[in-house]
Amino acid sequence: MSAHTAASQVVHESMFDSVLARLDAAVKAMNLSEEVAQVLRNPQKLVKVSLPVMMDSGKVQIFEGYRCVHSTHLGPSKGGIRYAMDVNQDEVMALAAWMSFKCAVANLPYGGGKGGVKCDPRKMSVGELERLTRAYAKSMRDVFGVNKDIPAPDMGTSGREMAWILDELNKIHGEDAPGVITGKPIALGGSLGRDAATGRGVMVSTLCALNKMGIDPKKATAAVQGFGNVGSHTARLLSEKGIKICAIGDHTATFYNEKGIDIHAALEYVKTSGGVLKGFKGGVEIKPNELLTAKVDVLVPAALQNVITEEVAHNIHAKLIVEGANGPTTPEADSILQEKNIIVVPDILANGGGVTVSYFEWVQNKMGYYWTENEVNEKHDLSMETAFNNVWTNAHEYKTTMRLGAYITALKKIEQGVKLKGFY
Ligand code: GLU
Repeated sequence: MSAHTAASQVVHESMFDSVLARLDAAVKAMNLSEEVAQVLRNPQKLVKVSLPVMMDSGKVQIFEGYRCVHSTHLGPSKGGIRYAMDVNQDEVMALAAWMSFKCAVANLPYGGGKGGVKCDPRKMSVGELERLTRAYAKSMRDVFGVNKDIPAPDMGTSGREMAWILDELNKIHGEDAPGVITGKPIALGGSLGRDAATGRGVMVSTLCALNKMGIDPKKATAAVQGFGNVGSHTARLLSEKGIKICAIGDHTATFYNEKGIDIHAALEYVKTSGGVLKGFKGGVEIKPNELLTAKVDVLVPAALQNVITEEVAHNIHAKLIVEGANGPTTPEADSILQEKNIIVVPDILANGGGVTVSYFEWVQNKMGYYWTENEVNEKHDLSMETAFNNVWTNAHEYKTTMRLGAYITALKKIEQGVKLKGFY
């Protein structure tokens, strides 16, 4: 759990501890009842499965799979499935709790959940991934349900895995229930606009924050860490709004260009390079941490957790941080950013665009009637702006940061769900 480096300084090695640290700070600030706080400190359900998969070599490999349902007080639990080597119980618990708060901030009728499999999808063949995904879906047949727990893509998964999971669940239940999972390919009941939605939400949050700060987007500069689904759409959409993107990077390479990087050229490049930025010629190559401390107005960490540490925070030049990733800032770094008057639009607000359009996908599946991309985007933008303004108002009312303001916004809603449903 937590390790003490010095008497006064606590390093949160556990991600769930990081969630609890923020939760407890919000509980104190808003004087939330201890009963409700206790309920939210303990996830409702945690399932661990062992998945024996036949590899292409002819040997069987055992994979660990997880699903955590943090809360169902405001509706069925909602949240993605992550494929990565660092997936573990602590991480899925943290990510599931964040989903509860994210859905409440976005005003969706959902609780929060998250799942994952410990694996390296980049080192697996398509056949191996399909067998692993179907095994995971089958193991979670009693957890997932259209009005129960609704998974979606997360790091390392995409529409392809969602299609396999849908097919496996449909076979088990003997009926087509597309609303049991979101982030599906369009042909299987996915929603237009879902693919770009998380990046779109980051863009809307950035524009809302710049507006409050009195900064003209056309005169602003930005650095975006991560060029996967979230980072690439964010960089594209911000540049379409006139923001100059001076730095981009992924796990293979990081680039800087004072004159602004041509994001469309970068998008074209990754189509030819196997999805990675390595070898891109649109800027000079820099170290990954130099992106975080670049002299830009806006910093968007849209890759991994815990990248903005205390040390990095001391060297950040941006005036605004918009968290595209889940948990990119450590609690220790939070206080330094606050001292430096850097505004942080937290993950549970900024990256809520993905789950918002997942909700629209679920609604369309239930109706059996589908909206145009413009209709989806319009509804999304309005929903994100409302969420941003609610958080901004709470942060001001409680004289606190946007992060605590977001937790307070979420807790006010979840508190009603917990109290109205009651206890045994
Ligand atoms: N995995 C995404 C997230 O962390 C999306 C979840 C969803 O659409 O349910 O927000």
